[in-house]
Amino acid sequence: MQYISTRNTKQIFTFKEVFLNGLASDGGLYIPKNIPSYSLQELKSLKELSYEQLALKIILNFCSDEFDETEIKDLVSKSYKEFRVKNVVNIKKLENIILLELFHGPTLAFKDIAMQVIGNMYEKILSDKNKVINVVVATSGDTGAAAVNALKGRKNINIFVLHPHNRTSKVQRKLMTTVKENNVYNLAIEGNFDDCQKLVKSMFVDQSFNAEINMSGVNSINWARIIPQIVYYFFAYFQINNSSQKINFSVPTGNFGDVFAGYFAKKMGLPINKLIVATNKNDILKRVINTGIYKPKEVLQTISPSMDIQIASNFERLIFYISSDDDQITLKKMEELKKNNEFKLNNEQMRIIRKDFISESLSEDETKNVMKKINKDYNIFVDPHTAVGIGVLDKLSIDGTNVILSTAHSGKFPETAKEAIGKDPELPDEIKRTMEEKEKFDILPNDLNSIKKFIKERA
Ligand SMILES: *Cc1c(COP(=O)(O)O)cnc(C)c1O
Repeated sequence: MQYISTRNTKQIFTFKEVFLNGLASDGGLYIPKNIPSYSLQELKSLKELSYEQLALKIILNFCSDEFDETEIKDLVSKSYKEFRVKNVVNIKKLENIILLELFHGPTLAFKDIAMQVIGNMYEKILSDKNKVINVVVATSGDTGAAAVNALKGRKNINIFVLHPHNRTSKVQRKLMTTVKENNVYNLAIEGNFDDCQKLVKSMFVDQSFNAEINMSGVNSINWARIIPQIVYYFFAYFQINNSSQKINFSVPTGNFGDVFAGYFAKKMGLPINKLIVATNKNDILKRVINTGIYKPKEVLQTISPSMDIQIASNFERLIFYISSDDDQITLKKMEELKKNNEFKLNNEQMRIIRKDFISESLSEDETKNVMKKINKDYNIFVDPHTAVGIGVLDKLSIDGTNVILSTAHSGKFPETAKEAIGKDPELPDEIKRTMEEKEKFDILPNDLNSIKKFIKERA
């Protein structure tokens, strides 16, 4: 498979380049040149596969130049060995909603599902070289933990995680900062997630810094993050599909990575009806989907911190696809954004978006009420991000079967559960032990040069 950038379709990249660079040097995001697709007949042949068998088939489409089938098979089985459920994900049916639980990996959020695969890919790609790679990643809370867990102790890799100081939950932070391996560096930045993301992007486009430290990235702009997330849309669809029912997925959304994976599954032939972009008060995606105006505002701190984002980086990939796959239109929109801090989509682009997407947001009180009601009705805890996915569906009335991506374990946000429900959710035992360990992180100002210096000295 060949890859291109959303801002330049003429230059061709390999999977390895896409994987190691993360972001194209023209500032664009990598996408496949051609989209692999399944006919209805072919979909039937995938229906009976186990999660790992399905993952092998889907992932192989995107990186068979780099890995052969046996290597991917091995990589997938290594990646999911320590998940707490047999089929990686769990489907929980409540009355009229279905939860697709994606949080049974080591750091209790859906990000483990892709990040474990990425960790094993690094090891394979780097094993025949004596080159050290420095992974730099921004996190609003969950990506960092997942990345640290996937990369800690690996040979020839250092990982630098930038998280917004005092803006993640305590459990989220401790899952990153309590690891002992000395290839892991946690940087608490005095700013919000968008600041962290901006810092990382600036380092990526700084060619000399980038080359000097052999920089690589695992944020959701990295195409390799998207690939393993496509798998669970297929898997859930096959598990749930009762013949002719329309199936909708409600996706708690921040950076537009997870829901974009669903969009890609649809482009690959999976007959998904609607994708519901569920946001908290940071509702830039709701605004652009409903009005056509993409305009970042100040980031607000909420009880669903992994969605406290106003610059949804992956949206650039959607712009490309709703603009007749035109790199120049995409580039122009992104330049407009840089210059005016906003851009506007035209009627045709809006028409195309609305075929696949619906969006709504949830307030803090509404989110807590959902957590409370779910606990009362079904005696289970849902985390605040999942609650946004559930609550948004309630506000919209959409035909068909609704599947909500349950993106994190409730135990990751005990403060909010206590406040909403008055009770503490349980943590899995191995995580409880982590909470007792000593933390290690450095607090740094929101300043590019100080951070570059910190990284250079340790890279
Ligand atoms: C990262 C995250 C999200 C948002 O996912 P995006 O791919 O950034 O849209 C939602 N919920 C949880 C728990 C997360 O960790």
